Amino acid sequence: QIAIHWFRRDLRLQDNAALYHALKSGYPVLPIFIFDRNLLENLSDKKDRRVQFIHHQLNLLNKELARYGSTLLVSYGTPYKVWTSLLEKYNITEVYANRDYEPYAKERDQVIAEYLASEGISFKSYKDQCIFEMDEVVKADGKPYTLFTPYSKKWMEKLMIKDGFYYQPYPSVDYMQNMFALPSSTILSLEEIGFQTMKCDFPKKGIKVDILDKYSQHRDFPAVEGTSRLSVHFRFGTISIRKAVQAGLQYSPKWLNELIWRDFYMMILHHFPSVVTENFNTKYNRLEWRNNPEEFKAWCDGQTGYPIVDAGMRELNATGFMHNRLRMITASFLTKHLLIDWRWGEQYFAQKLLDYDLAANNGGWQWAAGTGTDAQPYFRVFNPSTQTEKFDKDLKYIKKWVPELHTGNYPPPIVDHTFARERAIKAFQKISKGV
Ligand code: FAD
Repeated sequence: QIAIHWFRRDLRLQDNAALYHALKSGYPVLPIFIFDRNLLENLSDKKDRRVQFIHHQLNLLNKELARYGSTLLVSYGTPYKVWTSLLEKYNITEVYANRDYEPYAKERDQVIAEYLASEGISFKSYKDQCIFEMDEVVKADGKPYTLFTPYSKKWMEKLMIKDGFYYQPYPSVDYMQNMFALPSSTILSLEEIGFQTMKCDFPKKGIKVDILDKYSQHRDFPAVEGTSRLSVHFRFGTISIRKAVQAGLQYSPKWLNELIWRDFYMMILHHFPSVVTENFNTKYNRLEWRNNPEEFKAWCDGQTGYPIVDAGMRELNATGFMHNRLRMITASFLTKHLLIDWRWGEQYFAQKLLDYDLAANNGGWQWAAGTGTDAQPYFRVFNPSTQTEKFDKDLKYIKKWVPELHTGNYPPPIVDHTFARERAIKAFQKISKGV
């Protein structure tokens, strides 16, 4: 009889809620990971940084597990089929996993939990990827918050009670000896799951105190290494959110605030799954997007003639990362200057970002478009020149990504700023003021 820990977006051994509980169950624990065919087949580009990141982390996990005499079982297929064959092979009593709040994941887990239950196996799920989930931070009337500021206030209040209980890491004890070992310890290669290796550097996973110390001064300047670059690690759970919150409390309230945004958008996605395809604020369903495909292509390729916008898009295309300030500027430019539906931009980011996370990306896009929870007011249209002046005065970041800026080979602006600004305000005003 064995228990299974099903790794998903929690790719670490230490301070992992479900794994901790699995190991305490007393059964030998077989750790598994499933490359989900449903998700991978949707990725048209077979060189994918995310898949490669996961694969890389699985290899690291497997090496770490070897120290405890254990092995990671990696399968490829639809989760249902994989579970059917696992049940044929092993005598499983319990399955442990950490909760995921994306609609696809929730449905998948429900199907698997029901299937397991029909075979007499319990599926036990835990909170691990956020500090507060679902209904843990709600308004006095029990309804979910839809504005960040009051949510964050309540979040902080709750964090401080019970002697820091909510951000205590799970103890790291010798329970690891309960791991189950398979006869073979090789894991599937990227090629075996239909992908190719590409050259990419992944951000390091440690929390750097010097970055947190200066975070509030440096965080908005893309030419400076002023933010943690930990987003991909939060995305795949290679670092623990509890440890991050401890560091935030100790070194940078501003940084901690970003981690609250992360919880906030996960909570929003959980309570309002319609945001995946719909405006959070449904009155904007009547907004008349222009959706010009050539302009969209120019934006994607970093050829709008607005250096700060193009620099951001080129950084994204080349590295899979974009600084937060640039995410705000490029998203605002697409939705306001070009009046292109935020869903187009969101999809593009979803294909390209190494740290792509449905909740944060959707939240960020709807914020920029003015259709979301804490939306940018519609009359607030980022001015690319002012943004450059404020955040990249010496053009250090811009010149890195747009080296042809002063050579005569750079395209003219795709649209005049003043004209575009007025056009956007009119389109939004029609709805906001009902004119
Ligand atoms: P830091 O500044 O060091 O912040 C620490 C952590 O806090 C981040 O790693 C991230 O996990 C979290 N965080 C920071 N800002 C936000 C935010 N606004 N919302 C939610 N979580 C936040 N973040 C993603 O992780 N994945 C996405 O797909 C994503 N898409 C975005 C799209 C748009 C249009 C916008 C405006 C923002 C998006 N963000 C997304 C949020 C933010 O830009 C990135 O988290 C941040 O740039 C990552 O860099 P960092 O790790 O150095 O962040």
